[in-house]
Amino acid sequence: MKRLRTRVAIVGAGPGGLLLSHLLQRHGVDSIVLERRSREHVERRVRAGLLEGGTVDFLREAGLADRLDREGLVHEGFVFRFGSRAHRMPFTELTGRTVHMYGQQELVKDLIRARAEAGARLWFDVPDVELRGLETDTPTVRCTVAGEPVEIACDFVAGCDGFHGVSRRSVPSGALSTYERAYPYAWLGVLAQAPPAAEELIYAVHSRGFALYSMRSPAVSRLYLQVEAGERVENWPDERIWKELHTRLDIDGAPELTEGPILEKSCVALRGFVTEPMSHGRLFLAGDAAHIVPPTAAKGLNLAVADVKVLAAAFREFYAHGDRAALDGYTADCLPGVWQALEFSDWMSGLLHRPPEGRVFDGRLQDARLEAVVNSPAARTFAENYVGLARERTPARGGRP
Ligand SMILES: Cc1cc2nc3c(=O)[nH]c(=O)nc-3n(C[C@H](O)[C@H](O)[C@H](O)COP(=O)(O)OP(=O)(O)OC[C@H]3O[C@@H](n4cnc5c(N)ncnc54)[C@H](O)[C@@H]3O)c2cc1C
Repeated sequence: MKRLRTRVAIVGAGPGGLLLSHLLQRHGVDSIVLERRSREHVERRVRAGLLEGGTVDFLREAGLADRLDREGLVHEGFVFRFGSRAHRMPFTELTGRTVHMYGQQELVKDLIRARAEAGARLWFDVPDVELRGLETDTPTVRCTVAGEPVEIACDFVAGCDGFHGVSRRSVPSGALSTYERAYPYAWLGVLAQAPPAAEELIYAVHSRGFALYSMRSPAVSRLYLQVEAGERVENWPDERIWKELHTRLDIDGAPELTEGPILEKSCVALRGFVTEPMSHGRLFLAGDAAHIVPPTAAKGLNLAVADVKVLAAAFREFYAHGDRAALDGYTADCLPGVWQALEFSDWMSGLLHRPPEGRVFDGRLQDARLEAVVNSPAARTFAENYVGLARERTPARGGRP
């Protein structure tokens, strides 16, 4: 067996793991990143697309935003459609903050390129990561790299391997508490080679269910439909998808939805999930490995970035000054913001989705709630949550920043 050593072994090359590795290198801390899937798969996986202003600023500071600044689409508002009318939410006017539309897979490509250029040890197609000795000062990671069994001795393990990863499952049962909510509906997400029909996102509330119109570039649209929980993508041929999107999104006086070849479609369960604490022994969980928010408010990727920002700074303190306080405070620093994002995502999900078996009564209530959001001072609170400002103001409770 080949034996290697690093300071931080990072499991998972999603945005969280890759960014953490980049930040650690800037702090002079060595890491190895282990990814189960191939580079091609990771670079093509279509998911998030909305980056809060704070996330973009942080990526700029980290030297990772050149292409994002060139190609990302800057948004200053979005449109709610309900009651057959459009109501604009001018979130930049209300908060001074913009958001960027930039596909998660594009960010992942940028992060991988930066890691490769830095000569980082980033290994793909590692199928069998096994974590050992997490409760000792000398944890190890066993896995197979390019067909060869490897044991990596490390000081810490960063579990950035998403909701289904191995890291959280490696903690002895009972050591972590988990809190979960399953929603009674799901999203059918579609990536289409279709130029945007609108310049801003459209959140449409309809008696047949919620629909979201968004874009990833001037040539590619990303659309979502509320479907039943457990729905299968096979039940949705392209014609059915377009018909349903037109029904829910088109309104008189606004340009019709542009159709185009569907490049990718998948069903996503809506779930809220939080692990407390976000660490155990020498293992630190970050991003989706530690928490999931329903995608309605587009917070998941932004939370992963927020976690690794705190975690990288805590590792820097430990290696620069031998001080564990910030590592010990990691959970307390992250969780208030996580719960804040979850609360907003949960609330926004309830606001926009039609309950299963929803009746006219529910629809009228929904319209009244939306009216209250767009036409009252509540719009500012909504906008502050949407752009991430409210979360940034949430006081951390743990170690030092
Ligand atoms: C349809 C959809 C739409 C979304 N839209 C938005 C949005 O608009 N805005 C937003 O902010 N968020 C959004 N999200 C959420 C966002 O995509 C996630 O929160 C984000 O990917 C979290 O990043 P991560 O690095 O923590 O985890 P992931 O991106 O899940 O990365 C984890 C990595 O670990 C790897 N891995 C898993 N198991 C192992 C193992 N055993 N060994 C090694 N590697 C492993 C995985 O292959 C993966 O590459 C959306 C999610 C979905 C599903």
